[in-house]
Amino acid sequence: MSHLPNLDHYWLPFTANRQFKSMPRLFKAAKGNYYTTIDDRTLLDGTAGLWCVAAGHGREEIASAVAQQLRTLDYAPAFQNSHPLAFEAAERLAQFMPQGLDRIFFTGSGSESADTALKIALAYHRVTGNPLRNKLIGRERGYHGVNFGGLSVGGIAGNSKSFGNGLAGVDHIRHPLDIARNAFTRGLPQDGGIALANEFEQRITTLHDPATIAALIVEPMQGSAGVVLPPVGYLKRLREICDKYGILLIFDEVITGFGRLGTTFASDYFGVVPDIITCAKALTNGAVPMGAVAVKREIHDAFMSNSPANAIELPHGYTYSGHPVACAAAIATLDIFTNDKLVERSAGLSGHFELAAHSLKGIPYVKDIRNMGLVAGIELEPTPGRPGARAFATYLKCYEMGVLVRYTGDVIAISPPLTIEKHEIDRIFSCIAEALTELAAEGE
Ligand code: PLP
Repeated sequence: MSHLPNLDHYWLPFTANRQFKSMPRLFKAAKGNYYTTIDDRTLLDGTAGLWCVAAGHGREEIASAVAQQLRTLDYAPAFQNSHPLAFEAAERLAQFMPQGLDRIFFTGSGSESADTALKIALAYHRVTGNPLRNKLIGRERGYHGVNFGGLSVGGIAGNSKSFGNGLAGVDHIRHPLDIARNAFTRGLPQDGGIALANEFEQRITTLHDPATIAALIVEPMQGSAGVVLPPVGYLKRLREICDKYGILLIFDEVITGFGRLGTTFASDYFGVVPDIITCAKALTNGAVPMGAVAVKREIHDAFMSNSPANAIELPHGYTYSGHPVACAAAIATLDIFTNDKLVERSAGLSGHFELAAHSLKGIPYVKDIRNMGLVAGIELEPTPGRPGARAFATYLKCYEMGVLVRYTGDVIAISPPLTIEKHEIDRIFSCIAEALTELAAEGE
C-alpha cells in the first residue's frame, strides 16, 4: 500500500466527494489495459480511462515524444505566434477527418471544443451576412461538456440545473432512446429514424423561424448519458434538413472519434459528413489535455476572405491552443493509430464485444443492452426512489473484483481501450454479471 495522500484539499469533479473519502479509489500506475491502485490491486480498464486511453496505457512512443518536446520547446505563445508542430499536428489530424473537414482549431478539452464549435458556427453566419442566425439546437440527453455553451446545448438536467439559465436562444430536440420499442437490440435500432429526425424539421418550422437557426449539435452516439444509439437513417435525415434550411451540422465526436465505433470517426460509420467535428480525449490517448475542432474548408475560408486584411478573423482561442507538448502527444498517438491499425482492430473486435455484452440479457436488473463498436451500455432497473444507486453499487462491486466500469445514471457504460483482448472483454461482462447477481442475492 502506497502512502495515502491528504484527501482534504482536492475537490474531485463529478464526484460524491464525501463517499469517495470513505473509500478512496486512487490509481498509481497504468500499463496496457490495466491500472494499479494505490493499494496494489490490478484493475482491468473497462472504460479506457474516461473514454480516452484508446491505445492502451503507458505508451512509450507518447512518453518519449512528450519528454523530448518538453526539453526542446516547452511552450510557444498561442496567439500571433506558433511553432511548426502545431501545423504538423493539424495536417496529420486533417488526414484522419472525413474529406473536406481539413481546417483545424486546437483547444484544451472536449468542453472547449464544443464551445469553440458553437462560436465558429455563430460567427460564420455573421461573416457570411446572416447575423440573424443566432439560435443553437441541441438534444435531450446530449452531453457537450461543462462550459456554458456546451452545457446550454446539452440536455442533461442534472448537469445544468445548478447553474442558472445558460445561453439564450437554445432549444432541444428529442433523444432517440426508445427502450419500450428497442430493448436488447443489437447495434442500431432499425425503425423510426426518419420520423424522429423529421421532428427536428417540425420543431424549427413551427416554433422557430429556420432562418434564425445557426447550428444543430449532436453526438452521433450519445455516450455520457448512457450509450444512446441513433436509429438507422436518423443522422442522414438530420443532414438533409440542415442542408435544406442552411443550418450548420456539428458532430460532437469527443467519444466517437478515433476508432471507438470501428471507423475512424462516427461520420465515416454513418456516411454523413457534418460541417464541423469536435474531438478530444483519444486524440492524445488521454496523456495530455487536448481537443480539436475540424471545420469544412469553406467555413474557414469564409472567415479569411470576408474580413479586412490584418483583422483577427476569429476572436477566440486558448493559451494552450496547439500547445507544443499536446501536439507532440497527438502526433505520436496518430502514429500509433496508423501503425497498430487500431481502428481496424476495434472493428474486428466489435462482433465479439456485442456477443459478450448481450450475454447479460436475463441477468438480474438488466433492462436493456445497447452496443456499437467497442461501446456498450447496460441499463439497469433502478432501485425505487434511488436513481443511479444500483449502477453505482455495481461499479463498486466490479472495482472490488478488479474491473473498472463506468456508471452514468442507471447505465453501466463499457468502452475499453481498443487494445483490449477477447478474454478481457469476456472478463468485463462476466464481472458485471457476477456483481448484479450478488446485488440481487443481497436484495439491493
Ligand atoms: N463532448 C462529449 C461528447 C463528451 O463525451 C465529453 C466528455 O465526456 C465532452 C464533450 C467534454 O470533454 P472534456 O471533459 O474533455 O471537456
